[in-house]
Amino acid sequence: MDALDRILPKVEKPSRYLGGETNSIVKDHAQMRATVAFGFPDVYEIGMSHLGLRILYSLLNEREDVACERVFAPWPDMERELRQAGLPLQSLETRTPMGEFDIVGFSLQYEMTYSNILTMLDLADIPFRTEHRSFASPLVVGGGPVAFAPEPIADFFDCFVIGDAEEAFPRLIDLYVELRDEYAKRPQGRRALLRRLADIPGVYVPSLYRTEIDPEQGYLIVTGPVEPLPGEEPAPFPIKRAVVEDLADYPFPSKILVPHSEIVHDRVSMEIARGCTEGCRFCQAGIIYRPVRERSPREIIETTLKSLDETGYNEVTLSALSVADYSCFPDLLEKVAESLETRKASVSLGSLRVYGITDKTTRDTGRVRKGGFTIAPEAGTQRMRDVINKGITQEDLEKATTAAFSAGWERIKLYFMCGLPTETQEDLDGILDRCKDVLRLARQARSRNGGEKGKRRPVQVGLSVSSFIPKPFSAFQWWGMDSEALLEEKQRYVRTRLPRGVKLSRHHVPTSVIEGVLARGDRRLGKVIEWAWHHGARFDGWTECFRRDVWDQAFAAEGLDPDLFIKGLPVEAKLPWDHIDTLVTKEFLVKDYLKAFKNKFAPACEKPYKGFQFPEDKDEKLVCYSCGLECDLKHIYSERKRERQLLMLSPSAPQAEPEVEEPVSVDKAHRYLCRFTKLGRPRFLSHLDVMRTLQRALRRAKVPMLMSQGFSPKPVMAFGPALALGIESAEEWVEFHSLEPLDTEQVLPEVNRDLPEGIRFLSMEPFEHAAASLTVLFDRALYSATLPESEGTDLQQHRRQVAAFNERTSVLVEKIVKGKTRVRDLKHFVGQVEVQLKQDALYLTIPVRVGSGGSARPEDVLQAIYGHAVAGVSIRRERLLQTGEPGPQTPTADSINTDMKEPVESRNEGARI
Ligand code: SF4
Repeated sequence: MDALDRILPKVEKPSRYLGGETNSIVKDHAQMRATVAFGFPDVYEIGMSHLGLRILYSLLNEREDVACERVFAPWPDMERELRQAGLPLQSLETRTPMGEFDIVGFSLQYEMTYSNILTMLDLADIPFRTEHRSFASPLVVGGGPVAFAPEPIADFFDCFVIGDAEEAFPRLIDLYVELRDEYAKRPQGRRALLRRLADIPGVYVPSLYRTEIDPEQGYLIVTGPVEPLPGEEPAPFPIKRAVVEDLADYPFPSKILVPHSEIVHDRVSMEIARGCTEGCRFCQAGIIYRPVRERSPREIIETTLKSLDETGYNEVTLSALSVADYSCFPDLLEKVAESLETRKASVSLGSLRVYGITDKTTRDTGRVRKGGFTIAPEAGTQRMRDVINKGITQEDLEKATTAAFSAGWERIKLYFMCGLPTETQEDLDGILDRCKDVLRLARQARSRNGGEKGKRRPVQVGLSVSSFIPKPFSAFQWWGMDSEALLEEKQRYVRTRLPRGVKLSRHHVPTSVIEGVLARGDRRLGKVIEWAWHHGARFDGWTECFRRDVWDQAFAAEGLDPDLFIKGLPVEAKLPWDHIDTLVTKEFLVKDYLKAFKNKFAPACEKPYKGFQFPEDKDEKLVCYSCGLECDLKHIYSERKRERQLLMLSPSAPQAEPEVEEPVSVDKAHRYLCRFTKLGRPRFLSHLDVMRTLQRALRRAKVPMLMSQGFSPKPVMAFGPALALGIESAEEWVEFHSLEPLDTEQVLPEVNRDLPEGIRFLSMEPFEHAAASLTVLFDRALYSATLPESEGTDLQQHRRQVAAFNERTSVLVEKIVKGKTRVRDLKHFVGQVEVQLKQDALYLTIPVRVGSGGSARPEDVLQAIYGHAVAGVSIRRERLLQTGEPGPQTPTADSINTDMKEPVESRNEGARI
């Protein structure tokens, strides 16, 4: 057991730190030219859902000379345990300390993760500031949307990759490892090497630039490159973002990581396009990822199907900033949905604009599974939606709601913002009115659908209200953010007038205010972040962790007024992010900003004025505002037309396998019973995690599993008696139903092929329908416990202690259940314990009763024997014994005095442990 394994039982979710997931890649570092730690400054569940991680992990690991491994921010409980044990932060793949990689690349998605970056650097023993690092430290690189306005964290990074990383990041890795040894010998070698990196398009090295205070607004502005060293050219200024012109040059990965535990987006996410030209004026992403680049329908369909095969997922999300704006979206969706239906897999849509919700799209997305869908009107009135350039109308909203609920969908979530420019009370009332509209239309659609009254679940309408933050590079970047008090008041206004039947979730206002400050801050904020971190700031984006008092004190300690960074600004103001060139001109943003105050809607570019998704008429002009990107609209037109024609000509999307006639009931399916192991690190996986892992393994092996009925069908599976977290098992049992008879000898190796190490199917046998369910099949479990040396090695002494336990008639243990102390007698569940020496270690066998009458924890038995909790013991469930099967016996429910059968609230008799 390594040092990290020893602390895992002490943390809330050990599965976050295990690694070894299906499709994770382990390489020998000694054979690599470069090693890269992909650092994600948030928890596993969020980081693993991130598309950028999936893309770069696959892209870098495709290379034979690069190893890319993952490191996520440890939750505070894990941070505490790592510090107590004196352990560094380690990668998931090889448990290499993060500080030993050549390069650490942080994905920067959210300003409120800044303090976590410092936690990760600290636990990796990497100096916080670039000026304090030498060649002994990894190169610390940042990328992602937040890197476009990076000044608040500029001092913590050696460089940033601004824009698309597919081309720039590998070039940076290559140049760094090529020059590192040579430059390490030179005076000022690190500074000179960073200067070389700055020549890669999209790479920004903050230490190579001068800053000065702008007297007009009081911001610390980046004014130009510092004096170059002799023989050097000044660093490029401004710093242009990197753009991948054709996404086809970087095919989307199909063999993606499959997490053990449930993550936020636990499915295949297929990027169908990058960029968005809808022009929402509050949106930063719509500017920094321009222009729209679409993946071909063929690539999308083929990669999606391949990804299902390679992961075992049964759900796909088509992902883009605005999915419905994909140029042949309805046709693509239809083909994808057709292909997936044969595999009982479903398709969902990320970031769907309301005009994408039609009778056809709700039908296609609901073919296999119907859950909920999300609409983001953002503003309650048409005037406000025109101000923010959200191109949707009341009619669009009504049509979408009716279409979704008529098609049998049950849940809808509405996203709105408070604090938008020019907002009035009427706009807040508009939010409430739109909720009422949705409730009314949903109920009408449901009643038109008919159905038995009382059998349907009520319509579920969720409302999310967030605070508008004027983000850099959005058209509203100059607008002042509402004060915290005003935003709270606006949220209260909505909350207190909410119609019945609507469930509200509100974004935490103090968090949004600090997010605004960090988003628009200058380089001086680095000291504020560092102060806050030293005083306890961690996971600031999580309301339960966020400490506003610490941030207030941090600003006061550094003598900075947070309001300076969220105030309203004239368009001539010099901004802390002006030195980053997104390729979209400031003139365009100013014009668009001014249009907002004339309530002027500007239609999306790259499309005809009429707003059709696809230009049917070649003479129809496409909208362009000459934003700076110089799109070749003729080329865009002909490419999209060609792709659409190809899609329409294809008879149907590739069929995965012949359609199978599904039996109507369990009785007609083929039932199989399997034995499998859960050894090593998978012992920290929960019952649900194991269930998901096995289901995906069976799907990867193309086992046609019987699914439950209803809106969210699930494989019909059952497991043997539950196993506690942290305990290994040499023999677990699971049963499933297949729609077809299986050649189990052929299927078994397929199922085992990509399972995490430690989980292995040992057998797969047909199981009679009449056979009992697994929960009643077994009545005893045989546990083994291998004691650590610290418990002594005197076998006779141990035998005496075990015999004393065996002779006792009652051993009461206390357990807190839902705040109440429950007492249970171990002797009702435990048979004769035995101890022996096995391979120089003391080895106990503990027979325990299992089943509906309850069971005992082997750790409690050990504590009862030795009088203390045994640390470092290795416990394993060796076998489950069927009722009537010979083997060690345990008390049965019938053999126990009836007074003592059930746990009691409190007893004072018997020996307690
Ligand atoms: S150049 Fe024209 S078409 Fe291209 S992104 Fe800018 S406004 Fe849109």
